[in-house]
Amino acid sequence: MTEDTKARPSRGGRAGRSGTKAKAPAKTKAPAAAPDAVLVEAVGEAPGLTLAQAEAAAAGEEFTFEQLGLSEPVLQATRDAGYRSPTPIQREAIPLALKGRDLMGLAQTGTGKTASFSIPIIERLTGGPSRTRALILTPTRELCQQVEESFKKYGKHAGLSVISVYGGVGYEPQTVALRGGVDVVVATPGRLIDHIEKQNVSFDELEVLVLDEADRMLDMGFMPQIQKVIAALHPYRQTLLFSATMPPEVEALARKILRKPVVVQVGRRSQAATTVKHYVYPVPKQKKTELLAQLLSAEAMDSVLVFTRTKHGADKVVTRLHASNIAAEALHADKSQSQREAALKHFKEGKVRVLVATDIAQRGLDISGISHVINYDVPQQAEDYVHRIGRTGRAAKNGDAYTFMCADEIAMVRTIERVIGQEIPRISVAGYDFGT
Ligand code: AMP
Repeated sequence: MTEDTKARPSRGGRAGRSGTKAKAPAKTKAPAAAPDAVLVEAVGEAPGLTLAQAEAAAAGEEFTFEQLGLSEPVLQATRDAGYRSPTPIQREAIPLALKGRDLMGLAQTGTGKTASFSIPIIERLTGGPSRTRALILTPTRELCQQVEESFKKYGKHAGLSVISVYGGVGYEPQTVALRGGVDVVVATPGRLIDHIEKQNVSFDELEVLVLDEADRMLDMGFMPQIQKVIAALHPYRQTLLFSATMPPEVEALARKILRKPVVVQVGRRSQAATTVKHYVYPVPKQKKTELLAQLLSAEAMDSVLVFTRTKHGADKVVTRLHASNIAAEALHADKSQSQREAALKHFKEGKVRVLVATDIAQRGLDISGISHVINYDVPQQAEDYVHRIGRTGRAAKNGDAYTFMCADEIAMVRTIERVIGQEIPRISVAGYDFGT
């Protein structure tokens, strides 16, 4: 099934929480799903500051990776990566995961959540027997590759081996690597099941399981595969579950597989990154491409991620941008793996300034330095708006998020505003706004 046709479970109730504004750090209740859960801390956000800055400012000092008690090889890797201090999720999750606790991390992508599970796993595995001791399940191949890269980045001085296993590519190299033995496997559930069934991989020695972006995996219909994988694992293991949202399906899964978890929540669940400036452009549907081309020519936009609702829409926007001499590439599920990789590579390297993507690309993609996210179509779910604009303003960077709103989409924009707890300023461009 593709991202265009996939029916997604409703996330009822969100839109009703109107008028909530960003507040100072506050304790919130643990989700009802995990009765054993102890909420450690819900870290709030101060307007205009990144989470890390707000925390450091509140403490009057900068928190360091050294204070987390990490080993020198991992500390060196964080220095190599240019990180000055742990993000809030890292500060909370790393010490708990190092102690072996099960964890439920409520954090969207862009908060530094990948390091918050990779670093403790690297610490745990370093120097141990060379067996597959950690498994990370992710919803998409792109996220799979990014998690693999993270392990390589943070574990580069620790000498661990990691492989990513996902569909859409040949089995042979994965089979050879899995059979050869590897410390960490990062996998999408479907392809992993194939390898388990072919007995290419053994999880007899598995110590840590991570479910990354659990909500997205369930949205994509991976529940049966996840259950099958878990059935193949040792029951005495550490389990870390990360999710941006907590729909009932994820709560039920968490209750089933986590043992006395600690819940770590960063920001409000539906809160958009505060480093992002949002704007809505009212524009008739048939003028959207023209407006896009105009903005791309007029404004200093370094790297722009454009989201369309459908694959066909993405291709159409790319064709029209080409007609205006603007280099752009499309990223969606109908593209082959090599086309998707090439598009991402060109975008990351700055060869192509504009990447036009469908929602499959909205989460997990680690493309640093995106200056603008443009919602060519208003997302159908308010949560998706938060995830899409999470592509810009990642970590400590600033970014702008523009949403093109035609008449049919006014109600959806209002819903989004209620969910994120802020009004999005309208920008009227002469000749494009309704009736001008
Ligand atoms: P993630 O939420 O894991 O997708 O990470 C988002 C981005 O933040 C990635 O580009 C990371 O390289 C970056 N990042 C992670 N931890 C830190 C940190 N402590 N300081 C600065 N950037 C970070």
